[in-house]
Amino acid sequence: MQDTRPLLLDSDFPPIRRGQLDTLQVNLGYLCNLSCTHCHVNAGPDRTELMDHETVEQVLEFLQRHKIGLLDLTGGSPEMNPQFRYLVTEARKLDVVVMDRCNPTILEEPGYEYLPEFFVQNQVVVVASLPCYMEQNVDKQRGKGVYQESVAGLKKLNAVGYGNDSGELMLNLVFNPDDAVLPPEQQSLQAEYRQSLGETHGIIFNELFVLANMPIQRFGARLLAKGQYVDYMQLLRGAFVAENLDTVMCRNLISVDYQGFVYDCDFNQMLAMPIIEPNRSAVNEPIVTDVTKKMPVHLKQLLDQSLTDNPIITGEHCYACTAGQGSSCGGALS
Ligand code: SF4
Ligand code: SF4
Repeated sequence: MQDTRPLLLDSDFPPIRRGQLDTLQVNLGYLCNLSCTHCHVNAGPDRTELMDHETVEQVLEFLQRHKIGLLDLTGGSPEMNPQFRYLVTEARKLDVVVMDRCNPTILEEPGYEYLPEFFVQNQVVVVASLPCYMEQNVDKQRGKGVYQESVAGLKKLNAVGYGNDSGELMLNLVFNPDDAVLPPEQQSLQAEYRQSLGETHGIIFNELFVLANMPIQRFGARLLAKGQYVDYMQLLRGAFVAENLDTVMCRNLISVDYQGFVYDCDFNQMLAMPIIEPNRSAVNEPIVTDVTKKMPVHLKQLLDQSLTDNPIITGEHCYACTAGQGSSCGGALS
């Protein structure tokens, strides 16, 4: 598979620093029951990398020490990690809100029948990926039969109370384009999703998050293979909106990989671009911003360190976060 990483490292993306950290995004591993064409983590059924119990304990310790309000779980399919239930229930005991980035077909897999009730018991915010409301587009991107299984999974969530107007059990959906284009405007696409899923299947949800595709990993390789990389980067750079710099998600989250190493965001994690350790400047050591020379930083090194005002490692891929309406794990920025 061709790799865009060497093309992304040298960039004129404006320098940014972290504000107040309020979210810990944790990748529980790359195991997934699907292998989507756009997947930026190259997840799939054959991946074996999974966060172990010791690292989960370090995550809980970090949540407590830094008084983090939101634990954002991702993967792969985070539910496929055997530590998933333990981490969710322990985080809830700390009064941390837990968000599960769920591929809704997991609810149809044998062994995961417990999930809807478990989500309710722990008031988990479910963010379910559904890259289109049309069957042929979902199956093209995610595999044959995935649309119908996703619909069945979403219905199970609706049946236990997710997605209604009370706002108690939040069900948000995620869209990303299949091609090398910017995503459509979030509010109008949300209205289309609501109408189509409601009329066709009776499905309800709270919000639609619209994401731009990152030019990395599987999607990046596809851009290179089709000769679309340069055009896609021009598209992202040409649509740069400076106001989005204030709200890019790395401003208030950090991302942790399955081994406990820390990055400014999930995308930097996938590009092996580690966070800058905050105490470097305090001990008068030079800050290493050349990512090819940086050592990874582990969560346990950051238990007592403030990350506020820490410089964020950026690259050409960051233009995907600032193009047009902006893009983050919570959808459009503006
Ligand atoms: S469901 Fe998500 S994690 Fe799994 S392969 Fe698809 S995009 Fe990747
Ligand atoms: S890819 Fe986006 S979230 Fe990640 S460091 Fe760049 S701007 Fe921040």
